[in-house]
Amino acid sequence: MNEFDIIRHYFQRDVSTHKGVRTGIGDDAAVVSVPNGQELVLTMDTLIEGVHFPATTAAADIGWKALAVNLSDLAAMGAEPRWVTLSLTLPEADSDWLEKFSNGFFELAGQYSIALIGGDLTRGQLSITVQAHGVLPAGQALTRGGARTGDRIFVSGCLGDAGFALTMNNSQQTDYFCQRLNRPMPRLALGQALRGLASSAIDISDGLAGDLRHILDAGDCGARVDTGKLPVSAALAAAVDGESARRLAATAGDDYELCFTVAPHDVVLVDQLSQELAIPLTAIGTIVAGNALDWNSSDQASPYSAFQHF
Ligand code: ADP
Ligand code: MG
Repeated sequence: MNEFDIIRHYFQRDVSTHKGVRTGIGDDAAVVSVPNGQELVLTMDTLIEGVHFPATTAAADIGWKALAVNLSDLAAMGAEPRWVTLSLTLPEADSDWLEKFSNGFFELAGQYSIALIGGDLTRGQLSITVQAHGVLPAGQALTRGGARTGDRIFVSGCLGDAGFALTMNNSQQTDYFCQRLNRPMPRLALGQALRGLASSAIDISDGLAGDLRHILDAGDCGARVDTGKLPVSAALAAAVDGESARRLAATAGDDYELCFTVAPHDVVLVDQLSQELAIPLTAIGTIVAGNALDWNSSDQASPYSAFQHF
């Protein structure tokens, strides 16, 4: 199979029904049309074997996750995903791997009618780069800046499951924890619903401690978080002791939930949204003056910190 056979066979799908695609895969570049009054939102993330996923990860899960982590960034901006490009570096043209990888990728893409409109293919150590393109009404992007003293801090879903899954060996991993690590669901509906409501937002990829820190830096503010309020799944609560669960929830990455801030008078709207979307949205703390991130916990040994690559 040569390069063009691979692209045609695994990645070139009919995107004629997808909104705004003028020219997809097969020309020198893709052409899309951005609706009137909307802005284009762009993000890119790379997954490298051994760094972002263990070498044992199933190809379908890699395909899903490579797209999911990018969609999570669009969710955090409040954008609606439309088009993606994919740059693949493969050690060899393994048809079984490509079949499974592309199926995982398109399984998630199909749920949101996202069109794969181009990419690149090279040989080397396994690495996957996705660029996702979304749209939103002009001027309405959610950003990390904008949190104000008194705003309440919320997180979606449960935290710490993916981080816990990483600490387990293959035989210990249950379906639930595997799913949480390998098949994150980007919070796209939530992100879009938070436009005009959240004063700031970020997705939790590197752990709450580090990602909330970005909100504080961008908004020049501090936060007080009650570690007792951090939402933890029943599965995690059953698997580890309370302090370990709180530590994972505060510091472990890969959950791809959203953290956002809301003015106190809008808190009631967050509760309504939680009902409407059937997503737990938990108030975990408050934005305060200064720039410190305080964890209000009785049994904490040392300050929580985030995962960093360097
Ligand atoms: P060029 O040499 O002009 O850069 P390529 O030969 O790299 O073009 O790619 C040919 C077409 O296939 C382009 O439309 C490109 O976007 C698309 N493409 C290449 N690799 C991928 C991929 N992994 N997934 C989707 N589309 C791809
Ligand atoms: Mg090229």
